[in-house]
Amino acid sequence: MSMKFRSVAIDGPAGAGKSTLARRLAEKLGFLYVDTGAIYRTVALAVLEAGTDPADEAGVAALLEGLDIKMAYGPDGVQRMYLAGEDVSEAIREHRVSGVASRTSAIPAVRSFLLDFQRKQAQEGSVVMDGRDIGTVVLPDANVKIFLTAAPEARAKRRLLELEQRGQEADFDTVLRDIQERDYKDEHRPIAPLKRAADAVLLDTTQLNLDQSLEALLSLVKEKIGP
Ligand code: C5P
Repeated sequence: MSMKFRSVAIDGPAGAGKSTLARRLAEKLGFLYVDTGAIYRTVALAVLEAGTDPADEAGVAALLEGLDIKMAYGPDGVQRMYLAGEDVSEAIREHRVSGVASRTSAIPAVRSFLLDFQRKQAQEGSVVMDGRDIGTVVLPDANVKIFLTAAPEARAKRRLLELEQRGQEADFDTVLRDIQERDYKDEHRPIAPLKRAADAVLLDTTQLNLDQSLEALLSLVKEKIGP
């Protein structure tokens, strides 16, 4: 990996505030923000659109061969995802995509397909990258590794708010159950399970608001890579 660029790896479960915090941290640092969940979601959307059963590993693997996925930054600096040339940045946020993403992301062929894709982003500039296995697998040499977490109930509350802001209907119990199921799947899959890298700093945001979490992140980063 190039030594020219810096990288910050942020891993953690769904709803810990990773994407919002990683994006704001990247802005502060002048780094690019890479949301790897969005990349996994784009594969999941492709699986859904093709009508492939997410449990059919061979079927999903076959679909990867012809898959045309691109990532680009809009004029506003926001990451956009393209599937076969079509901007799917909003479609991948739908609830139905979350469930499929958590299943397809457990398939080894999907993970190896996306490994180079993700690493390439970190070779082209300094990045804040968030996901589940960034510090452990994708960028094991990241300058800073953070494992961001919060209690499941706090995460469910935040997710619910996010869905409501997007005009999507959901109720607390369903969102909480989804989060717990996804945690379980992400933590127990045999390949690249969600776990804290030995050298990652743990940051629990249950009691912190967004600004406090960002402050905590910034001071961790500055400690490791200087101001
Ligand atoms: O973070 P987000 O909820 O958008 O991620 C969608 C799904 O993609 C997660 O359920 C997780 O299983 C998977 N994922 C992953 N590895 C990553 C990022 C996301 O397995 N680096």
